[in-house]
Parts: sequence; structure tokens; C-alpha cells
Amino acid sequence: TPQLSDRVKNMATSATLAMAAKARELKEAGKDIIGLSLGEPDFTIPEFVKEAAIKAIQEDFHSYTPVDGYGDLKQAIITKFKRDNGLSYTPAQIVVSTGAKQSLANLAQVLLNEGDEVLLPAPYWVSYADISKVAGGVPKEIKTSIDNDFKITADELRAAITSKTKLIIYSSPCNPSGSVYSKKELRALADVLVDYPNIIVISDEIYEHINFAGDHVSMAEFEDMYDRTVTVNGVSKAYSMTGWRIGYIGAPEWIAKACTKMQGQVTSGANCIAQRATIAALENPPSKIQYMVDAFKERRKLILGLLSEIPGFKTNEPEGAFYVFPDISYYFGKTLQGTNINSASDFSLFLLEHANVATVTGEAFGDANCIRISYAASENDITEAMKRIKEALTH
Ligand code: PLP
Repeated sequence: TPQLSDRVKNMATSATLAMAAKARELKEAGKDIIGLSLGEPDFTIPEFVKEAAIKAIQEDFHSYTPVDGYGDLKQAIITKFKRDNGLSYTPAQIVVSTGAKQSLANLAQVLLNEGDEVLLPAPYWVSYADISKVAGGVPKEIKTSIDNDFKITADELRAAITSKTKLIIYSSPCNPSGSVYSKKELRALADVLVDYPNIIVISDEIYEHINFAGDHVSMAEFEDMYDRTVTVNGVSKAYSMTGWRIGYIGAPEWIAKACTKMQGQVTSGANCIAQRATIAALENPPSKIQYMVDAFKERRKLILGLLSEIPGFKTNEPEGAFYVFPDISYYFGKTLQGTNINSASDFSLFLLEHANVATVTGEAFGDANCIRISYAASENDITEAMKRIKEALTH
């Protein structure tokens, strides 16, 4: 298709969504697939959030919304940032978008010029690289190792910085590794960044509440980083509101203003009913969703235990989010049930075809030795999936 733009031709399809589509296809064809590929909580939406949405419809909310979000939603976000993160923002620093994915896409569009480098501690969330590329940026992976819990060190960060470095994007808790940066570790990275005042930090905190390690730390908490850090968050993961598509940022005012300008030409303000529901979600303290976090913690224990009984899976202990990211390179060069395994993609496809379990290849996350398994699934599904994987591998 020569008419397609180079822009889209050079773009990778979201690997997580592609795997989910493939699993759905097989399911529809009658196969009993267990889907552990998507980062989607299997809980329903809390009642108080549903009620707020129903009320909004009954109260006739229907019009275009302000591009940067309803004023009272911004207030709820400001209260949330203060309450949960100790961060102070004014309304002019907040922009509400159609999912944190759009928040990130806006940021790349307004901050990157052709050839600007974007540092991505790897493994990283799939979309960071392509969101950067489509905006003209050049992703630069900073490799980590499972032995350092998939975290970068200050020295590794410094070594990756060049005169072209414009952004660093990371998530803590991390999708896909589940790693959580401590205050001390983040401060060490900040100590490097203070020497490079032109680099902007995008701190993706969407898994903030799904943290089994203890304290969540925001880069913007550090006074010397506040003016150059954008804090990204949303309600998809913590409130199980993935399909409602609400994300938001707290940012330096000039960045927030630029994001609003960009969004005003591309999508306008986010959905009105979802914004009303988000107010209810954020006005409630995180203790209201603790039951989900507790369940994820139990499932983490379950899946780590079961994985440790399968040969060739090397895992870190994820401290947050709801994924495990095992290194399965043990299987490279081996033949399993007649299939040659030479990559994480081969391995993930093998699991889909021979164990009927959907996972995602680590290649898409910048680590070609691993696969990502989501444990945002029922304990029954997790147990059955691990049993099938073990059987397929020891066949
Ligand atoms: N950031 C990370 C690290 C994610 O894992 C996801 C969703 O998978 C997002 C952002 C996007 O979330 P949203 O549903 O708000 O667009």
C-alpha cells in the first residue's frame, strides 16, 4: 500500500493489543484460551463510580467538555496529587485526556523535534517507543538486568545522556517488570539529571496504588525536579476503568498549555460522563480500592510459586503492577514439540498454540529474553494457565 504514510508504515502495532486480538480470534473459533496478555484488572468498577456516571447521564451531561477537563475534575485531581503524592499543582498545570496513553502522546508531540532522543530504561511499556517515534523522536534504550531488578543505576543513566537527549520516560511501578524505584534510587537518578537541566522527565505513575513494596515516590516530589517533571496518571488500573479512557497530567504550566493546544486540534476534551465518574473515583481515598491491591498481592504469590516449579523461568520479585516478566532465554535454541524456539516471540506463540495461554513477547518491551505474563486474572485461571504451560514445556 504505497499510499500509506511512512509515519504509520514505520510504526509497530501495539504488541499487547495484537496478542489480545489473536487470543480473542482463537477463542471465537472455539479454543479454550486463557488470556494473560492484557494489562487489565478483572474487577468490575466500584459501585460509587458507576453511580456517579449514572447520575451524570440523568443530569444531562452531554456537551463538549473543556479541552483540558472539567474544572471540578481538575480540583479532584489537585486534591488527589496533594493527598497521595504530596504534590502541589494549580488548575493551569492539569490536563485531562482520553487515557494516559493520550497524555503521553500529547507530551511526545509537544516536546519532541525531529532527532531528539528519548531515554527509555528497558524493559519499558510498549507504547513509549512508538509514541516517541511518531513524534520524530529517537528512542534510546538503557538496558537493565534481572539481577538489578530491572532498574537503571545513576551511572547507566549518565552514560546514556547525549547532547540530543530531550526526554526520559519511565514507569514506577513498572510495566512490565513490576519494579518499584525507592526514594533513594530515584534521588540518585535526579542527582544525575540536575546536571542536564534541559532534559524533561515523564514519570508514569499509573500503577501507583498497585504497590506491594511500601511507599510510592514521585520524581516531582524533589524540589529541584518539580519544574521539569511531568507526572502522568489515570484511572484505568487503580479503578478498573480501562474502557472509560481517562488519564491526566500534572506538569509545568508551559507544557500543560501546549498539551491542551495539541489536544484541542486532535480530540477535544475527554468524554463527559467518564470525567464525572472520575471525580467520584478520585475523591475517595485509596483505601476504597485496597481490596483489589490485596487480591493482586495474593495472585502475585500464587503465580510466583507456580512459576518457580516450571524449569527455565527466571523471575525477579515484582513489587508492583500486576505482571511477571520471566527471562525464558533458557529455551532459546531448543525444540519444543517440533517447534524451534529462537526468540521470546517464538516462545510466546508456542505457549498460545500448545498451552492455550496468551502472553506477550518481551521484545515489544525492549527485552528480547523475557515474556510478560499478566496476573490480573482469577486465581483459577492463573493456576490452570501455569499447569498448562508446565505440561506443554515438559511434554
Ligand atoms: N502507562 C502504562 C505504564 C500502562 O501500562 C498503560 C496501560 O497499559 C498506560 C500508561 C495507558 O493507560 P490508559 O488506559 O490510561 O491509556
